[in-house]
Amino acid sequence: MRTRFVNLRIPAGGNEVQRAEIVVSDGRFDEILPAGSETAAGGEQWINLRDALVLPGVIDGHVHFDDPGFTHREDFASGTAAAAAGGVTCVVDMPCTSLPPITEPEALANKVRAIQTKAYVDFMLWGGVSGNDMAHDDWRDNLEELAGAGVAAVKVYCLSGMESFKALGYDQIREVMETAGELGVPVGIHAEDPVVVRELTKEIRDRGADEPADYASSRPTLAEVAAVRELIECCRETGARSHIVHLSSGAALDLITAARREGLPITAETCPHFLQFTLDDLLRQGSLLKTAPVVKSIEDRERLWRGLAEREIEFITTDHAPAQWPEEKNTGSIWTDYGGVPGVETLLPYLYSEGVSAGRITLEQLVKLTATHPARFFGVDDRKGALREGHDADFVVLDEDVRWTVQGTELHNLNRYTPLEGYELTGRVRATYVRGQTVFERKPDGRELFAPAGCGKWIQRGHS
Ligand SMILES: [Zn+2]
Repeated sequence: MRTRFVNLRIPAGGNEVQRAEIVVSDGRFDEILPAGSETAAGGEQWINLRDALVLPGVIDGHVHFDDPGFTHREDFASGTAAAAAGGVTCVVDMPCTSLPPITEPEALANKVRAIQTKAYVDFMLWGGVSGNDMAHDDWRDNLEELAGAGVAAVKVYCLSGMESFKALGYDQIREVMETAGELGVPVGIHAEDPVVVRELTKEIRDRGADEPADYASSRPTLAEVAAVRELIECCRETGARSHIVHLSSGAALDLITAARREGLPITAETCPHFLQFTLDDLLRQGSLLKTAPVVKSIEDRERLWRGLAEREIEFITTDHAPAQWPEEKNTGSIWTDYGGVPGVETLLPYLYSEGVSAGRITLEQLVKLTATHPARFFGVDDRKGALREGHDADFVVLDEDVRWTVQGTELHNLNRYTPLEGYELTGRVRATYVRGQTVFERKPDGRELFAPAGCGKWIQRGHS
């Protein structure tokens, strides 16, 4: 069955768009043509998109959907439903926030079994190496098997608050980088220096301080800078493809940019909360906006936006990590409240609104930051991340002039709070297609339709 989408516009470089038609067959883009190319071929279904903007489906390279194990925070059905409603056609789920953690092949197989019937969009899975694993000498065999099974990338932490997924020392990270580099899989690192954070946390907690500002003081820019400096050294020594997840500070970005100019294979991602919020917002929103790293200053925020425009930051992810709301954000102390915010559903509308509409990045850059570059990083750019003939027909239909107000209760993830509550955005997702199938549609009367759960599939690095 061929489906011809007509009356639409696609990106054409910079902020330009061109009128086009898209023919989808067997879940792939068969033809992408200038408008008016339609021929009266028989057996085609036609869909009129009424002049909408069509973009490649977003790949959110960093989500915590908590399934199986922590499904009071999120599960794969609600998380991927939120993704579908936000124009995200592929999520890449972290290895640390499900049980057992994805550090050995049986856990990976178990996880795929648990989640694949729930997924509304395609998914990839990070593997990882934790301090718990490095106590045993089979971690290298496990990593090799995970790579063979198609994990998207390998996650490690310099600093972790999770008992089930402990941090590594820099020497251990260097060992993981060496092994992952040999296996051809990139390493993503949570970069906050443990000594800096532990010493500050102890000193601040010892004097009984318990405000959001105190939490922020325990994880200053210096913590990120110190870790990134060490990790650049690890990258230089091993030559392994390295990636700093959820970068929050301008000073750390300066270091990464300098390392890249030197030719080192290191990149970084940042997240909407670092592009939107500063310490003032943390003081106002309190634990709701508690994340690690912590939001920084106006100067950091503007430096990160400039880093996106100047191609210093490789892609944007959400680090979608909701707490059980409101319980886990109201434990009575900023130190024990859960750190993490949801974001997968608001990623694209936020970036379109505050990035493209506000003139900070171009439409072309938006596509690279949300689709093309993550597809390349996760090794699936032969299939995903572009409106290209032969690629999976993953795309989002955006009404780019629609203004709407974000309300947590209207989102689709399990725990419906958002730091963007009440924010007005320009640009709203009308429909999302995964491999040619409508997985989400918002009708003109406001009704929302979803495809049956289980239509998303596991996408493996290196297995096309
Ligand atoms: Zn994360």
